[in-house]
Amino acid sequence: MIVAMSRLDSFIARMQAQRDCLNFLKPKIDAVPGPILEVGLGNGRTYDHLRDLFPGRDIYVFERKVAAHPDCIPPDDRLFLGEAREAIPKAAQKLGATAALIHTDLGTGDHAANVAMGKWLGPALDTLAGPGGYVLANQPLEVARWARLPDPPGVPKDRYFLYRVS
Ligand code: SAM
Repeated sequence: MIVAMSRLDSFIARMQAQRDCLNFLKPKIDAVPGPILEVGLGNGRTYDHLRDLFPGRDIYVFERKVAAHPDCIPPDDRLFLGEAREAIPKAAQKLGATAALIHTDLGTGDHAANVAMGKWLGPALDTLAGPGGYVLANQPLEVARWARLPDPPGVPKDRYFLYRVS
């Protein structure tokens, strides 16, 4: 008997995969200098997890409109407010290609819109990605100098997309 995944099941599986990927990356990121970027603050849950995983590291956040839990709002000087397409080039001017980890969690249930966004998002984020760094994305992103890594143990195939930057 096949039991379809409810939206709740799917949400939980996505969150588990996200957390498992970040926890898997923790020792690797510890060995790479540079800031951590959270692209899409949302409620701030992932930002909070990143703060726990990487105490003392600079964490910069991108968000078009902050509506996070009050305890999970980054300081003004760590927030790139506005549309990611415009905010990323500004961030690149400030930070350069230095990020140890970029976690991107943009997009909606609109598959075509996500595919269209992926076309500019990958190259834009590449301007921020430091050599030897990692990108964790909730959608596939094609960038020549990023190599896709296998899914971490226990993470369902193609739920998340993990890349190493050369
Ligand atoms: N990881 C987050 C958390 O822990 O709550 C959830 C992120 S939520 C799925 C995506 C967020 O990205 C939303 O808050 C939305 O406002 C923001 N966002 C989506 N598209 C954006 C864009 N083009 N530019 C800037 N922010 C965007």
